[in-house]
Amino acid sequence: MATATEFPRQMYIDGQWRDAIGGGTLAVINPADETTIAEVAFGGRADAEAAIDAAAKAFPAWKATSAYDRAKILKRTAELMRERADTIARALTMEQGKPLAEAKGETLHAADTFEWFAEEGKRAYGRIIPPANMMKRHHAIKHPVGVVGTITPWNFPVTLPSRKIAPALAAGCTVVSRPADQTPLCFLLMFECLIDAGLPPGVANVVMGDAKSIADAYFARAEVRKISFTGSTAVGKELIRRSADGVKRLSLELGGHAPLIVFPDADVAQVAQAAVIGKFRNNGQVCIAPSRFYVHEAISKEFTEIAVDLARKLKLGNGLEEGVQVGPMFESKALDKTTRLIEDAKSHGAKILTGGAKSTRFDRGYFYEPTVIREVNGSMKIMTEEPFAPVMPILDFSKLEEILSAANATPYGLAAYVFTNDLTIATRMAEGLEAGIIGINDPVPATPQCPFGGMKESGMGRELGIEGLDAYYETKFVSIGLRA
Ligand code: NAP
Repeated sequence: MATATEFPRQMYIDGQWRDAIGGGTLAVINPADETTIAEVAFGGRADAEAAIDAAAKAFPAWKATSAYDRAKILKRTAELMRERADTIARALTMEQGKPLAEAKGETLHAADTFEWFAEEGKRAYGRIIPPANMMKRHHAIKHPVGVVGTITPWNFPVTLPSRKIAPALAAGCTVVSRPADQTPLCFLLMFECLIDAGLPPGVANVVMGDAKSIADAYFARAEVRKISFTGSTAVGKELIRRSADGVKRLSLELGGHAPLIVFPDADVAQVAQAAVIGKFRNNGQVCIAPSRFYVHEAISKEFTEIAVDLARKLKLGNGLEEGVQVGPMFESKALDKTTRLIEDAKSHGAKILTGGAKSTRFDRGYFYEPTVIREVNGSMKIMTEEPFAPVMPILDFSKLEEILSAANATPYGLAAYVFTNDLTIATRMAEGLEAGIIGINDPVPATPQCPFGGMKESGMGRELGIEGLDAYYETKFVSIGLRA
């Protein structure tokens, strides 16, 4: 078992591990037993300014490094992450709560992300555009945006930063990265892989501390040309407002409220199983987690019975223990919010089929019983607010047109899921759903080579795929006049 002394605990600025300038520290808590795992450095604006200085100083040389040499470091990072996946995953489970197998899967997905962007950075082609005037030549070329500041949450503390750091570095940008307060340890272990892969000083830096103060530094400093944020829609909107003065580029991966729609031709048992896995993975604390389950009335009784049975059988416990399928929620606030959502749903007539309360099986830790509810209606907060909770609300539907408008009736547009073997229905749904990510018979659609991001209030821009690399480039138009 990892001991506290094994974890890195400092920030990493200009090639040096450093304490916070003000000497502050923050305790990292294990949500399974509420013990302190480690104390890490915790600073704020001054630390972020030092990291921005380092990233700005490192930018010209990194930009001038060939994509092939940058790729060597990113590919080596991926290899080291795979070698160290057990250690990183263990830290992830201890501070975030998800079961070890999920934590390892997340780590390997992040390693794949580093490898994919290492390769894709070599293919950042520009364009030669035919001129109308033959005494000119037109080129569109790619230019790295500059220093990038990142802020990421606790729910995927290895994967989400990798989706920003890997493409930014591949594109020739330098980075200042802030992990979430609750989950710095697995992030730092991932970051050590970058350092050990040969990252030059200042090219990527880590600051830990008050999020708002670090964002203040990102906004105040002209050298920071772009902010890449993953988190709630509320904070995303604040960043959009704040970006106006410096015209900062933004990539925003925000909240979601994904519908999962099951048509009557689908294999009910198979879909119920996929739905339960998709819902209770990471306790529903997943931006693309299905959170509204619309099941055709012809199969909804059978679907509900199977889903309730499967949810009851899920093994809840400390994610480090063998066989545990659902860990604790990440902090007590999340548990309280889930309790409030369920109380609100009950007060509006919801029927609890299983779960519906904090688990009484544990003396300590933030455990909530996997919950399935029916008799759900639009007046309940669980249908309008992003739940981020282990709760599965099941609703019936009868017509395609009616389900499409119900599915699209939130301000969110991140993910949507459809289960059917009817090609026409699948096509109509894929074209009609207002979501950036659509899984047709696929409950877990994220993969490094495909674009990931939201429509409507779920975000701006895309991560992963070629779009995720392009987000770290400016396109420059070069027009060359020729001598007669
Ligand atoms: P949050 O409150 O927005 O926090 C996200 C991150 O932003 C945290 O690191 C937080 O710092 C920081 N933050 C908080 N206030 C800030 C401010 N005023 N300025 C700058 N940074 C600030 O979100 P959360 O509830 O912790 O995280 C879950 C949310 O993330 C959900 O809405 C989820 O859907 C979304 N998410 C989206 C995606 C996606 O790809 N679209 C992926 C994962 C999660 P602290 O560490 O101090 O809290």
